[in-house]
Amino acid sequence: MPGPQRLLSSLCLLLLAIALVLGAGWQAGRFARDGLMATLHGRLEVYGQSLDAMLGRFDHLPATAALDPTLVRLAQSHDPALVAPVNDYLRTVSRRTGAAVLYLIGTDGTTLAASNWDQPNSYVGINFGYRPYFQQAMEGRDGHFYGTGTLTGIPGYFIAAPVRAPLADGGRIVGTVVVKVLLDAMETVWRDAGDLVLLTDRHGIAFLSSLPDWKLRTTRELDALALDELADTRQYGRDSYPPLPFTMPHRLGTPVQTVDGRYLLYGRALERDGWSLLVLQDAAPVRRAQSLAAAAMALLLALALAGGLAWRQRFRRLQERERSRAALEQARLDLERKVVERTADLSTANAKLEREVEQRRHTEQELRAAQNELVQAAKLAALGQMAAGVTHELNQPLTALRGLAENCRALLDRGREEDVRDNLAFMADLVDRMAKITSQLRGFSRRSDGPPEPVPLARAVRDALALVERRLADQGIAVDLGLPSGGLVVGFEPVRLQQVLVNLLRNAADALRDRPNPRIRVTGHVNMDKTISLSVTDNGPGIGFEVMPRLFEPFFTTKPAGEGLGLGLAISQAIAREYGAQLSAGSGPEGGACFTLTFPPLTERSPTGEEKNHAPA
Ligand code: ADP
Repeated sequence: MPGPQRLLSSLCLLLLAIALVLGAGWQAGRFARDGLMATLHGRLEVYGQSLDAMLGRFDHLPATAALDPTLVRLAQSHDPALVAPVNDYLRTVSRRTGAAVLYLIGTDGTTLAASNWDQPNSYVGINFGYRPYFQQAMEGRDGHFYGTGTLTGIPGYFIAAPVRAPLADGGRIVGTVVVKVLLDAMETVWRDAGDLVLLTDRHGIAFLSSLPDWKLRTTRELDALALDELADTRQYGRDSYPPLPFTMPHRLGTPVQTVDGRYLLYGRALERDGWSLLVLQDAAPVRRAQSLAAAAMALLLALALAGGLAWRQRFRRLQERERSRAALEQARLDLERKVVERTADLSTANAKLEREVEQRRHTEQELRAAQNELVQAAKLAALGQMAAGVTHELNQPLTALRGLAENCRALLDRGREEDVRDNLAFMADLVDRMAKITSQLRGFSRRSDGPPEPVPLARAVRDALALVERRLADQGIAVDLGLPSGGLVVGFEPVRLQQVLVNLLRNAADALRDRPNPRIRVTGHVNMDKTISLSVTDNGPGIGFEVMPRLFEPFFTTKPAGEGLGLGLAISQAIAREYGAQLSAGSGPEGGACFTLTFPPLTERSPTGEEKNHAPA
């Protein structure tokens, strides 16, 4: 994956992780808060009901107490004699009901009788005309008021009811009965329950608080009107009301998140006097749950990340292993395929080779057969040529003999015996010469594949020269012999050797045709390696470089048709090889051709001078 894309996806993953962590925290916080809220809701219900129940007990007490005739009379008449019985009455009632103080105020606001008439802080004679509850009662309504006692400094809830004169006297309001209820007990209950509970008035001032520090502080800022009213009624007996460390929720009755992030608050408006009951709960558990869930999520993500990385590592390793295994397998398959291919190639090549070997063997056999045929054919051809030559050679003496014979008869007729004798001698010479020719012909034509025998080179050369003597003489070819006098002897079949030499000499003669000063030189010597060489060199045109490579090819000839068969050298080489010798061609010192026969050294030398296959001279 390219860098920027990778970075982007990493960033996305990071953002997702952050979202998950925050989400987990938020969700856990929500659960915890919902749980706490449910608890708070329950508490609030309980506290609200108990407050209602407690105050409800006193709601009708003043109105009931105001029905007492003695009390009504005192209110009407202000008769001092009635004060004591009414005091007693009020004390009895207040004791029975558990009210803090129960008292009767006259229409001018001055207290006429009170249940605490004999206490140091007795209300008797005190004027409460400024108190709202008095004014409300005097207007014929029930008065309610929470305030701090101006005399005792003890706060309490005041419930007032008008005292009416009997209908017979006009039924007018003649006074007010007030009951003061102490609510401090509530605070103790809340505190003991471990809850943070506030009871606020319609101005938002917390007049009851389980936390003393928060008492008489406001949930909202007080306006001038409210401050004036508070001063007038001396409700809480002070001038300033510092704000609470949180702001009130806009709507009570629904669970409210947090206050300053530290508390959870649940509030409820009560039916009484615009009061509100607030329960607060430290939000620490929510925050704890939040951070715990976030931490757990972070841990989970870290684990997942670690797991993911480990899995990826492992996956990559597996992939790597799989790749190398596949590569190995491929290599093995390739190798196998190559081996199969090579084997097939080899088999094909082998089969081809075998075929070729077989073909060669066959060809060799054919060649060998052809060679033998050729040797014999060449021999016959040579014989034919020679026969022609011999016929020519013999015809001359025969014609001469015939002439001489007739001549002899004529000479005898004339009795010239001397001349006849000379003629007869000449005729005998002619016959000798004819015999010589035929004997050479016989020796040449004899088929001879016999074993090698020691052959003196000098004699072989002489015999061969004798066979071509006439031809050489006709062409005026000079013959140089350079053979060591000691005599070189080679192992060969004499007739065969003669055949080879005749062939070489005849070729030389052919080459020397129409050449000035034609000369053939026949030399022999022993080489360093004990082999023996015999060379036939002429001063003819030599062998052209294009002719040289094909020299020993059967039927290769440069001679005009009818003159050459192109078999001479091929047969000569074959014969030489047959007896372990070599026939090679080169150039002579005068630019002519030089054919050399190289014989292997003869291990056993036979006596020289013995003549074989040689016709008598
Ligand atoms: P042929 O004599 O029937 O042509 P050979 O095998 O004896 O067949 O000779 C082959 C050829 O070699 C000749 O045709 C000739 O061209 C060449 N050759 C042989 N001997 C000589 C020589 N002495 N000088 C020049 N060329 C020669």
